[in-house]
Amino acid sequence: MLRDPLPLSLDPLEDESLPGYLLRLSHRLEHTPARVMFLTGLTVTDRSEARPRLSSMVHLDADTAAVFSTAARLTPSETAALCLSAFEERYPYAAPAFADKARTMDGRKVIRTERWLFTTSTRYCPQCLASNGSTIQNEHGGAWRRSWRLPPVFACMRQRVFLEHLCPVCQQPVHFAPGSGARLLPRIKDHRLHPLQCRTTLPTLERPFDPPSCGTRLDTTASVQGPPPAHEQLVLQERLAALLRPDGPGTAQSLGEPIPPEQYFTQIRWLTSLLSLTWPAGSDLVSSTTSSDESRACAGFLEAAVRITDQHSPAEAIDLLRPVLLSMGDLGWKTVWGRRYLLDQPPIQQRLRLTLDPLILIKPTSLTRRQTIAHRRKYGPVVRPAFPASGPHRHQPAGLPARHLRSPLPGSDRPARQQRTRILRTPPPPPRARCRNRPRTMATKHR
Ligand SMILES: [Zn+2]
Ligand SMILES: [Zn+2]
Repeated sequence: MLRDPLPLSLDPLEDESLPGYLLRLSHRLEHTPARVMFLTGLTVTDRSEARPRLSSMVHLDADTAAVFSTAARLTPSETAALCLSAFEERYPYAAPAFADKARTMDGRKVIRTERWLFTTSTRYCPQCLASNGSTIQNEHGGAWRRSWRLPPVFACMRQRVFLEHLCPVCQQPVHFAPGSGARLLPRIKDHRLHPLQCRTTLPTLERPFDPPSCGTRLDTTASVQGPPPAHEQLVLQERLAALLRPDGPGTAQSLGEPIPPEQYFTQIRWLTSLLSLTWPAGSDLVSSTTSSDESRACAGFLEAAVRITDQHSPAEAIDLLRPVLLSMGDLGWKTVWGRRYLLDQPPIQQRLRLTLDPLILIKPTSLTRRQTIAHRRKYGPVVRPAFPASGPHRHQPAGLPARHLRSPLPGSDRPARQQRTRILRTPPPPPRARCRNRPRTMATKHR
C-alpha cells in the first residue's frame, strides 16, 4: 500500500537500527510510534492491534522497503542500512531466512527470526545513546545501534565499557515487550516517551487500564558498573567488530589458515553454543573471571571459542576441546548439540571438522549410522538437556544464577532474559542456503 511522503523526516545516524529510527522519527513528528509505523507502510493500520513484524528489523522485503523509503524520504540504500541484513555478507545469521510455506495475509513470505540475533531486546551503551551535541540529537537523542543486536558485540570500543542490557531502575531488558506475540517495540501507542527513555510498563493496581512506564532516561542514569573489560576482551572485541565492518579484513585466521568472515562467525557460534552447554568445562580457556552479567558472560564464551580457533592446527585444538566434549561422557553425539552437528553438517572449515569429529564420534559406528539415529530421534523440547530444579548446575557459568539456565522450554511469553541466555545455548540453526529448502518438520520443531 502506497504512502505519501511525510512532511518531515530524519537522516539515519551511523549504525542506527530500524526500531531506534522509528522512535526518533515519531518523536520529531510528535506522533506515536504506531502512527509512524502506519504512515511508513510497516503496518496496515495504526490501531492498537497493529504490530509490525519483529522480522522488520532484520529485513524489509522489496515492496515494504520501497514504501518506507518514499514515506520517510530515504534512499533505498539508507533504508536497507537500517536493517540487520546489512551485516549478512559477513554475519550469516543476519541474512533473511524465510519460513517454509508461511506467508502473510498479503501473500508475502514470512521471515524467520530465530537466529543469533537479539530481536526481542537490545544491548546499549549509555554514553553512545546520549546526544553528540548536535541540535537534532539534543532533541531526539543518539542512535540505538544495529550492532548492539549482535551477540558478538559485547563492549563499546569508544568508551571501553561492557554494553548494558537492563534498565538500571526497573531491571528489565531494554525494549522488551512482554505478553503474547513478539513486538518490534513496546508501548507503540505511547506518545509521551522520549526515544531514550525506558519503555517498560510497570504493573500497578491504581491505573490497571493505563499502567505507567518506567521512563528512566537510559543515557543519563548510571547503573552499577562492574569491572571494565580486560585488555584481552577489548582486543577480542576489536577483532570481531573489524570482521563485521564492510571494509574490514577479508579473512580471519582459524586453525592456521585464512577463512571468510561468514564461515568464521558460523564456527564461533557452533563453538559458543557447545561451550555454554558444557560450561564450566571450558572455563580454563578464559583469561578473565566470568560473571552473571549478560555481556560479560557472553564475552567469556566468545573468548573461549576464539581461543580454540586461534590454535595453529587441529591437534592443538583437540587438546583444548577434549575436556569440553568429554565432560558430556561418551554422550557427545547424543546431545542436542551433537545431533544437530551431525545432521546439519555445518559449513565449517575442514580443519575444524577434523578436530570435532573424533571427539564426537567416539564409538566406531559409522557417521552415516549416527546421522540416521540422530535423525530418527529428531529434535524438540523433549531432547533438550534436563536441568535440575534447584542448586548449581554443572553447565552453569561461574557466577551465573541458576535461573538463567533453567526451564529452557520454548514459549512465546518466556522472559527475555531467558531468551537471551538461550540464544547462546541453542545449537545454531542450519546455514542460510539450506534454510529455504529445509523440511518443515525440522524448521519448526525447534521454536
Ligand atoms: Zn559507547
Ligand atoms: Zn526501566
